[in-house]
Amino acid sequence: MKPVVAIVGRPNVGKSTLFNRLTRSHLAIVEDYPGVTRDRLYQDAEWNDRKFTLIDTGGIEVNSDDTILARVRKQAQVAMEEADVIIFMCDVRVGVTVEDMEIANMLRRTKKEVILAVNKVENFNKLDDIYEYYQLGLGEPYPISASHGMNTGDLLDRLMELLDDFEDDDYEPDVIKIAVVGRPNVGKSSLTNAILGQERSIVSNIPGTTRDAIDTPFERNGQRYVIVDTAGMRRKSKVAETTTERYSVIRSLRAVDRCDAVLMVINAEEGLIEQDKKIVGYAHEQGKAVILVVNKWDLIEKDDKTSAVMEKKIRSELLFLQYAPMIFVSAQTKQRVSRILDMVNVAVEQNNTRISTSVLNEIIRDAVQLNPPPSDKGKRLKIMYATQSGVKPPTFVLFVNEPEIMHFSYERFLENKIRENFGFEGTPIRFVVRKRSTEE
Ligand code: GDP
Ligand code: GDP
Repeated sequence: MKPVVAIVGRPNVGKSTLFNRLTRSHLAIVEDYPGVTRDRLYQDAEWNDRKFTLIDTGGIEVNSDDTILARVRKQAQVAMEEADVIIFMCDVRVGVTVEDMEIANMLRRTKKEVILAVNKVENFNKLDDIYEYYQLGLGEPYPISASHGMNTGDLLDRLMELLDDFEDDDYEPDVIKIAVVGRPNVGKSSLTNAILGQERSIVSNIPGTTRDAIDTPFERNGQRYVIVDTAGMRRKSKVAETTTERYSVIRSLRAVDRCDAVLMVINAEEGLIEQDKKIVGYAHEQGKAVILVVNKWDLIEKDDKTSAVMEKKIRSELLFLQYAPMIFVSAQTKQRVSRILDMVNVAVEQNNTRISTSVLNEIIRDAVQLNPPPSDKGKRLKIMYATQSGVKPPTFVLFVNEPEIMHFSYERFLENKIRENFGFEGTPIRFVVRKRSTEE
């Protein structure tokens, strides 16, 4: 699981400058999930093979009449809720301000690790100005210059030390890990309870291998599971809903990272919202099994066509996710809840399926005969050979003469052919296109 790091501090101390520097120069940006990172709230980053998510709380929505203190307070609250390590940034040119003191008071009370960064230090031979920062009671201040990149390496080293304590607390591989995700109030907790209520053999309730998700291990028919309810922590939140809602996505993304199957819970009365799309989009990119669970079905006035109409509507908004099965349930009346785990089993199995090279090549050959590959500038794509290189998700390597000629739509066609033969219901599949010379 990727730890989360947040940068907080008054306006103009240099938070964005540091954020940009960390994500741009020092760190390889691992992924750019559409929509999620576009607003620059999150950036996945990597330093010395350590992956983490950086959040820039400077982007938090504020009311125009908010005082600076109120703004920074909001940031600190979000950071204290969502992050594992907080970088608190001050500006040496301004000195310790009343707001800095206030925020330090807040941060001292959190159990989270805090790194105190004193920015805009330009002369590292003359550090007298940073001594006053010891009074904040947050340990040793780190003098840095974000814009010149001075001492930021030391800051990163310290950060890595702290992140080492967040090693993956993973379960054994044969345990199926299920993340229940969705916006607040769709019924994640109710559904989790309904699923667990039918399974008498809950092993134990471990509140928080992470502090923000509740893990419940249980067993059914000899299969072990862990269900991760991402709703838990929010209830304790004192931050205005509007502020946290954007940031609460992080919690869902982290749960997705850790799990094998994602139960995307959708409110039958409201349908899909933008945030749902981001989360399942991420699950898709991460190669997870996905099941679309439309909850509160009891509240819908329906006839024999209602579910088909709703399914069609939801699917039209999730074109990349046609493989995900959909089920209409009520956590309240328990209608169809008992079928969810069966669907999880199937999807996880499909996510782990291998098909033999000979059968795969047969399918590809037939597909190519039916619909010849694209051509470009007089050259036609030739698929020499295909093989499955991995699972979770099933990944197929296509060896071709000219990888550039491969087209998204042709990949989609091959995907459909493979699915016609093998299903792969509930799991994304992936293609990797590699060049291989025709002479071989
Ligand atoms: P934020 O509001 O905390 O995100 O602050 P910004 O990153 O936007 O920076 C505010 C101003 O401080 C910008 O003009 C930056 O160029 C400047 N700045 C950032 N880091 C440094 C630094 O290390 N030294 C100096 N002199 N200026 C800096
Ligand atoms: P969460 O924030 O996603 O965990 O949502 P909760 O499980 O706390 O549910 C939010 C509200 O919706 C609660 O008042 C639940 O009683 C209600 N709720 C959850 N599932 C259903 C359902 O299937 N039908 C109806 N009618 N209400 C539900």
